[in-house]
Amino acid sequence: MSDMKVRNFICFTAKEGLYNHSPYYSEPRHFIFTGACVVCGRRTYEFEDGENDPRGPLGDHANDPLVAEEYGKTGKDIPLCAICANDHTRYDIALEIANKTWK
Ligand SMILES: [Zn+2]
Repeated sequence: MSDMKVRNFICFTAKEGLYNHSPYYSEPRHFIFTGACVVCGRRTYEFEDGENDPRGPLGDHANDPLVAEEYGKTGKDIPLCAICANDHTRYDIALEIANKTWK
């Protein structure tokens, strides 16, 4: 992580990186690729600090995953972008995919 370049933008092709979020944050923020949205394929990202509001720098790429435990199931988190997470039709498609994956 120490050799990652700090940038003033989030590179939405990178696997991870450091975002210079000053003056709001004193330290650069570490962002991580969390997978392609299962509905639209948009690359989703999260900040390591857990502050992933889509109104922030992640925008539409903010991951709002479906979490198995919230549905009484087990399995991997299903990546879902901010756009699809806020659209009922797309959310239902994601849930259908998730239910085929989860146990
Ligand atoms: Zn999506």
